[in-house]
Amino acid sequence: MPLSLEHSVTKLSGVGPQLANKLEKLHVRNLGDVLFHLPLRYEDKTKVSPIGTLLPESSAVVIGQVELAQVVFGRRRSLLVQLSDGTGSLTIRMFHFNRSQEKSFQRGLWLRAFGEARRGAKGLEMIHPEYRLFSEQPEGGIDSSLTPVYPTTEGVSQLLWRKLTDQVLQMDLTDLSELMPTDCLPESLQHMHSAASLTQALRALHRPASGVEASAMIDATSAAHQRLIIEELVAHHFSLKKSKQIRESEQAPMLESDPDLDRAFISNLGFTLTNAQQRVGQEVATDLCRNIPSMRLIQGDVGSGKTVIAALAVLQAVSAKVQSVLMAPTELLAEQHFTTLSTWFAPLGIEVGWLASKTPATQKRSTLARLASGELLVAVGTHALIQEAVKYRFLGLIVIDEQHRFGVEQRLALRNKTPDGFVPHQIAMTATPIPRTLAMTFYADLDVSSIDELPPGRVPVETVVIPAETRRRQVIERVQSACAEGKQVYWVCPLIDESEALEAQAATEAAEELILALPKQKIGLVHGRLKPKEKELVMDKFRRGELDLLVATTVIEVGVDVANASLMIIENAERMGLAQLHQLRGRVGRGNTQSFCILLYHMPLSAHAKERLKTMRETNDGFVISQKDLEIRGAGELLGTRQTGSISFKIADIVRDQHLLPVIEQTANRLAKQNPQNIEPLIQRWIGTKENYINA
Ligand code: ADP
Ligand code: MG
Repeated sequence: MPLSLEHSVTKLSGVGPQLANKLEKLHVRNLGDVLFHLPLRYEDKTKVSPIGTLLPESSAVVIGQVELAQVVFGRRRSLLVQLSDGTGSLTIRMFHFNRSQEKSFQRGLWLRAFGEARRGAKGLEMIHPEYRLFSEQPEGGIDSSLTPVYPTTEGVSQLLWRKLTDQVLQMDLTDLSELMPTDCLPESLQHMHSAASLTQALRALHRPASGVEASAMIDATSAAHQRLIIEELVAHHFSLKKSKQIRESEQAPMLESDPDLDRAFISNLGFTLTNAQQRVGQEVATDLCRNIPSMRLIQGDVGSGKTVIAALAVLQAVSAKVQSVLMAPTELLAEQHFTTLSTWFAPLGIEVGWLASKTPATQKRSTLARLASGELLVAVGTHALIQEAVKYRFLGLIVIDEQHRFGVEQRLALRNKTPDGFVPHQIAMTATPIPRTLAMTFYADLDVSSIDELPPGRVPVETVVIPAETRRRQVIERVQSACAEGKQVYWVCPLIDESEALEAQAATEAAEELILALPKQKIGLVHGRLKPKEKELVMDKFRRGELDLLVATTVIEVGVDVANASLMIIENAERMGLAQLHQLRGRVGRGNTQSFCILLYHMPLSAHAKERLKTMRETNDGFVISQKDLEIRGAGELLGTRQTGSISFKIADIVRDQHLLPVIEQTANRLAKQNPQNIEPLIQRWIGTKENYINA
């Protein structure tokens, strides 16, 4: 029987249960999955580069004559082979080698090597290149066509991928169905499509023909690439739409609002809502009145007033006598929301509960009991609120602050929190806006609202970038004069990866230094290692103006709101990402006075770090910053792919392929109209079994 794409990988020669298990990790289960397991990139081993033209950090094939080979004993024993071709010289460095290898590099022999050139102690080096020795000068490169490099996992070599894909490419693929007819595409892209059939495009990617334009393959701009990229992006779009449809077939409680309660709440605020807040508030209110589970993302720059919107939504649930929770990613921010909501709701006679992982056991027990009985309608806290053990009588709404993706884990966690058959409404709020084209493609499953206006009277924060080595003293003086004028100041200590303890230590040391330098000022310290009570105490003092200066780790990153604080110093700003810097800076400029942000940095600065600091100095606009962030970091991180596991591509790259995004939705709509029966197979083809996970 001939092989078909539905057959298991174990049908291929050389694939036993052990290898099949490894492939499973990459979601490669059947032969179709192998066919659609596309190279991540290509190496060009077809051309030989003169050594003199090599650039650091680039890969190339070189041919040269051995001038010298010696074992040196530096920090690590290594074998160095000096190579020269008349245009320049290059060192081959090996840390692992045996005697016979060592002896083989005889002076005068020819060597052909492929590897990445790097800057070494004495000029360029290649570390452990792929190489071969010749007695005569060899001709030409190593391969006659580009070498595909497959994404892989431990224990599955590139060679193995070649063997697997070879077998699949030998199958008769003529009946591979064309699911995306050319006329679905906008005219400008139709030529890509007609240039190659799906089968041809797949073959071209797996086995680039010799003589094909290398740069088009390497930059993924070949017609074969483009047609597959479009198809994959369209498939993703459909898959998101499908999750939306599934959600919309579920039941949520209808939350009828109480206009009197709303009015009482708003008139107590002490300010009037901006137009943008009113509009977004209305969009949310309309959602919650429906019996379809809503999933709305609210984007609004730092300080745009998202908390009020959360409070209004919670109020609507209270009116309907249904439970609701407001969650924040850090305990500090959650505490602040607890304080804010308690203050706003107290006059209305609405009690607010509190739950975080560090809440003392007795208090926790009582809160849990009251949530389970339904006595407590509103709770604020960290993600502890949706953990398994927390039971609700009837949870109808969850609002998540500072999050821009609805995680899979979260959806799973929310099951069983509502009576049979009901799903709670969900609202996420973020200050990291998503560039528009991305939003259209990647938020097709969500509704998005934007608070695109700041409350009146806000003055943009002025940002300066200063080298810490030479001007720290001056910055401390600046802090002193700000405090003398009655302003409050944040001093943010460096981010130390993975270690809350080291971070706390650095903050403690900075606080000691500042206490010595500024004896007249009242200085507080918060970091992640403090007990919740201690943190609360310090934050309260700062909020009430009893402290002039707050030394803090990045625990204050999100949401902290003290309007009188108008100066922020950020140490080692070069280590932080743009989104984080923007968030931190958003802690000042919340009142009506001019605020300042000083970014201290240490040399040397990487190119990315320079770019980030420059962006921060030049703009306060969250949209501009997120676009820059996208360009610098790539979309995966921006969208938080790693947390949710929901977006990973076989061939598309959202940053590289940005120019295609605007046509994806349009193409998908046409296809849905003309060939609706193709949607499901298209999802299966590109997303396949992973999709079940998204819809979990
Ligand atoms: P963010 O969107 O960053 O979460 P917040 O909700 O913390 O912003 O609001 C920032 C500050 O602005 C808070 O002190 C809040 O009370 C205040 N605020 C919110 N809306 C308005 C408004 N319409 N007019 C004046 N101040 C407002
Ligand atoms: Mg906020």
